Amino acid sequence: MKDHARHYGLDARELTRLRAFHCIRVAGQISRTDIARELDSSPATVTAACGALLEAGLIREVDAERIDSGQRGRPRVMLEVNGEALAVAGIKVARHAIHVTIVDFKGVEIGSHLSPLAVSCMPAEALVRAVRQALDDALAALDLSVDAVAGAALGLPGFINGETSFMHWSSSVEERNVDFGPLFARHLPCPAFLENDANLVAKAEQFFGEGRGLHNFLVVTIEHGVGMGIVQNGQLYRGERGCGAEFGHMKVQFEGALCQCGQRGCLEAYVGDYALIRDASVGRQSDAHKSLTDILESARAGDRLSGEVLERASKILGVALASLVNLFDPQHIVIARLRPRFDDVHTQAMMEALRRNTVQVDAPLPGITVRNLDESMWARGAAAHGIEMVSIMKIRAGRDQDAA
Ligand SMILES: [Zn+2]
Repeated sequence: MKDHARHYGLDARELTRLRAFHCIRVAGQISRTDIARELDSSPATVTAACGALLEAGLIREVDAERIDSGQRGRPRVMLEVNGEALAVAGIKVARHAIHVTIVDFKGVEIGSHLSPLAVSCMPAEALVRAVRQALDDALAALDLSVDAVAGAALGLPGFINGETSFMHWSSSVEERNVDFGPLFARHLPCPAFLENDANLVAKAEQFFGEGRGLHNFLVVTIEHGVGMGIVQNGQLYRGERGCGAEFGHMKVQFEGALCQCGQRGCLEAYVGDYALIRDASVGRQSDAHKSLTDILESARAGDRLSGEVLERASKILGVALASLVNLFDPQHIVIARLRPRFDDVHTQAMMEALRRNTVQVDAPLPGITVRNLDESMWARGAAAHGIEMVSIMKIRAGRDQDAA
């Protein structure tokens, strides 16, 4: 949480409030005593922090009678996030659609909406206008007022500083180096925050999926490109410039295949959708294989070249995953793909490459989960991020009240 203090400009007291809020979100329901234990903080400090969160309406006390504690003695008062307090929009810009999910402050989905997108790469301003339209459409479809939404978080692929909403590069945006803050302020009806989409999947896993209860895990996303989210000590790791974890652009070959980022030899230039489609098309000098599904189906039908393309990509991915295990020693890795891209035989090839290239220690490999990723998982992660950013905003707003 040190990063939060530095980047969001929170003072020590506000940081404790944010840490307590985070703790309550992850736990669902938790007592002040247990928060103090989790944060290694004094009960008095935690009581003060929770008092401020209660006053801001971000959390509430749960009626002790409603809790089946299974313990004897005095029932403990539990705290939980105040779900009805605020609504937040999570927005994922994919290549052909914008997915909007509206959640309450606990992250429970109120509803979602999909707006088709005619082009997959556009100027930043056009993108933000399209996002506004998608948000309006979603709110209209759900019969919600725009006033109900306290904040929106937007996920894009690419090099993005999630703390400042600054985009260095994205395959969805024509320009490089765009400060989205002013664009959001101009076109969106509520505070909005930009974040790398793989980080959002890591958030979704942390709050709703495989990452619940884990302190150190990685999420690797594979679709058009390859992304990664790192959760360390329960917190998203972003790096010094706010755009770390670019696993897709880890070099796997010196001066190798051309990547969409402009460099050569990046992992995603070997395992991203576009790389496999390129491989399958160049190999047969035709463009019959326009999608991953085409390649997978033709491999299943016995086409040798398609099978080789998938097997090679699986092995390269396995070697790259071994590097992650060697670097991070995580508890768990979630591999989230947009659509089935490998059959069991390819997954086995990946696991074998992973095993063979992991530094051998007298301990089992971390758990590996391969799962399909639908757009809603991204949008839910965006919503989870939005809840965090709105709570930071509210905690900072409390500062002005404290001073007044
Ligand atoms: Zn690259």
